[in-house]
Amino acid sequence: MGQRARRYRVGTMAHTLLLDTSSLTYRAFFALPSSITDGAGRPVNAVRGVLDMHARLIVDHAPDTCVHVFDADWRPDPRVAAYPGYKSQRPDDPEGLGEQFPLLRRVLDALGLPRVEAPGWEADDAIGVIATGAGAGDRVDIVTGDRDLLQLVRDGDADGSGPGVRVLYTVKGVSDLAVFDEAAVRAKYGVPPDRYVDFAILRGDPSDGLPGVKGVGEKTARDLVRRYPDLDALLAAAGEQTPALARRLREAGGYIAAMHQVVPVRCDVDLDWVTAERDDAALDALASAHSLEGPVGRLRDALDA
Ligand code: MN
Ligand code: MN
Repeated sequence: MGQRARRYRVGTMAHTLLLDTSSLTYRAFFALPSSITDGAGRPVNAVRGVLDMHARLIVDHAPDTCVHVFDADWRPDPRVAAYPGYKSQRPDDPEGLGEQFPLLRRVLDALGLPRVEAPGWEADDAIGVIATGAGAGDRVDIVTGDRDLLQLVRDGDADGSGPGVRVLYTVKGVSDLAVFDEAAVRAKYGVPPDRYVDFAILRGDPSDGLPGVKGVGEKTARDLVRRYPDLDALLAAAGEQTPALARRLREAGGYIAAMHQVVPVRCDVDLDWVTAERDDAALDALASAHSLEGPVGRLRDALDA
């Protein structure tokens, strides 16, 4: 029984954890040995990792709501149309990973936990819709291994009249989380979160197949973002740079225009929500069929506490 909603408003003063579950499942798969299998020999390491992470997040952060967000399409057509190289060099999923996604969805449904995706779009975009839809006093923590989402970070107003969005970034594996608020983004990258898109466009992101502007590394990107209010102003002032950089910026005009269609998270796409009825009998059956009794028990205890 899927519910559809264009906007998701969390309750006033609610603290919501948005788990970038597609990203976390990958992280968990590579962090935990694939020798973790069920009785039939099927790997369940990623499922175990995500369930254990969720239980620990509840204990550590005591959120009001947790939402699991999935990629509906990890390489959306509009981004590929704007820049064909987007994620074009990603290797195929390793054996044993793909089939863990349906199992994880079944476990989440049996637990009655909400999961969401944006049809045709990435988890990043569904997270963008939810995070920007948060209202005054809401707190949203995005749990992800994808630094693209740093663009969504914003501090709440001190008087509680605005929403606050943080990123809990998986530094290594899925147990070591770095908390990014506005000050932390500035400290690490030298730019505020609302300029992170400009910074990322100039710098590029090899893991997404985005080379950035030739000759512009992290430091130059940061300096240019700090010096100009936006990338149009930077391009208009290309003549103020060294001749080599001026030429590279002029040559990158088309690339930068394409990146405006690729790098910003979409905050205006439709969401598909699924919130199933909790079913403890089904949960117990799944747990024993897939050797998940430990993590399922820990997460159930955390949810019920
Ligand atoms: Mn992503
Ligand atoms: Mn991303």
